[in-house]
Amino acid sequence: MTVSSGDAEFELEFEFEFEIQHKDLLGRTGRFRTGHGYVETPTIMPVINPNLMTVKPGEMRKYGAEMVITNAYIIYKNEELRAEALKRGIHAMLGTEMPVMTDSGAYQLSEYSDVEVSNREILRFQQRIGSDICAPLDIPTPPRVSRERARRDLEETQKRLTEARELIRDRLLTGVVQGSTYSDLRESGAKHAVALGFDIYGIGGVVPLLESYQFATLVDIIMAVKRNIPPNAPIHLFGAGHPMLFALAVALGCDIFDSAAYAIYAKSGRYITNEGTKRVQELQFLPCSCPVCSTYTVDEVRSSVDLLSEHNLWVTFEEMQAVKQSVVEGSLWELCERRCRAHPALLAALKRVTRYSALIERYDPVTKHPFFYLSECSAHRPEVLRYSHRLDRFLLSGNVLLSTSKRLMEGEERFDHLFMVKPPFGPYPVELEESYPVGQAELPGEEEMEEEEAERVALANVLRLLRHNAGKASFVFRCDHRWARHPQMEEIRKYARVEVR
Ligand SMILES: [Zn+2]
Repeated sequence: MTVSSGDAEFELEFEFEFEIQHKDLLGRTGRFRTGHGYVETPTIMPVINPNLMTVKPGEMRKYGAEMVITNAYIIYKNEELRAEALKRGIHAMLGTEMPVMTDSGAYQLSEYSDVEVSNREILRFQQRIGSDICAPLDIPTPPRVSRERARRDLEETQKRLTEARELIRDRLLTGVVQGSTYSDLRESGAKHAVALGFDIYGIGGVVPLLESYQFATLVDIIMAVKRNIPPNAPIHLFGAGHPMLFALAVALGCDIFDSAAYAIYAKSGRYITNEGTKRVQELQFLPCSCPVCSTYTVDEVRSSVDLLSEHNLWVTFEEMQAVKQSVVEGSLWELCERRCRAHPALLAALKRVTRYSALIERYDPVTKHPFFYLSECSAHRPEVLRYSHRLDRFLLSGNVLLSTSKRLMEGEERFDHLFMVKPPFGPYPVELEESYPVGQAELPGEEEMEEEEAERVALANVLRLLRHNAGKASFVFRCDHRWARHPQMEEIRKYARVEVR
């Protein structure tokens, strides 16, 4: 098919395909092809303001960018920029050969509640200036509006998505899902978009949640959309540009992000780190070794918006690299736990994620990095849930010993089956001592485990095994006083003889 980019016309013959390379939780590394080459994911697109290029698009690759995003509406509204974009094409105008995604003005719509362009016009414009990935003019509905408004807005968004799909056939197109904070509306929005068939699926209308640190609500929204999108389609979380969120959002299956934050934050003196944001005026030291922070003094960084923007870009991409590496090695959960300890709102989000462990478990690879127990959230990881289901495979008879430590295993020859009990997994046959995940789980020492969640989950799994084999095997459960005090022991005594030593 023929595509025009400014004056130039070129052939595009690609079929959209998202190749997934590594997976961890719902996260993945992968790549897809655009009219300007491959894009590796997960990735973050720096937002280019065509009126004010703090960092030149041509330099973005240096930081690790795979593609950039710019706002077609801002270009369209400015006569000079519009003429230039139409004449030279968006890539020449920005001075980059990287893939360029264009946004439609939906963000301006959320800020000023009106834009002077129709969905059709702005889509045609994106097509004419040679955008690699176009976006329709959806209606970004803020969180917690009335249900009626959210439903009405979604209906309008769906009309525009339908129009967009009919119009744009020669390049990649993003289908944005709205629905405010109503999970059922997000779900039906996602199903509608999937029925139309987009290359990339967007989650929109979440910026107010990000600004007010409502990350647990964000988790619900992402999951409502994610569970209705085919697993082989990339997801773009619109407006999420702060690196402290990347691990969590990638773990939930988001692949593409955009950051205006690097420049906007710099303008207001905010220094981004992977754990949060600092006021550059309050910094006495630069806690970073990026090329900016290792070359310039704290005073120089403080007094230069450009240097601060550059630092913000370096740390943003550095975090994305860390996230990608953790997907490859299967340690994304551990990275999430570390990042989510940085702020109570992030911790709330991680706890919310554990509610979705059953769903995540279905996609999570079976073998990976050693299991590190880092907080009570670890007790609800998908691996633990999966292990708990597997316990039903044990069909036991004869005499069975369950013991919370090796030390308590004397007289073992009298038993037909020997199980160790280890938090948070619970019982496992001694023969599986080396196998993943239970054998390879690393925990703080028993004395140092502050919370009881791991033991509670372990005992729940002991009970599961006991009930499943009740009447078929005869059980002895050996533990020390610490375990014996647990409220669940009363129930365990109904199925096993408990020996406290
Ligand atoms: Zn730095």
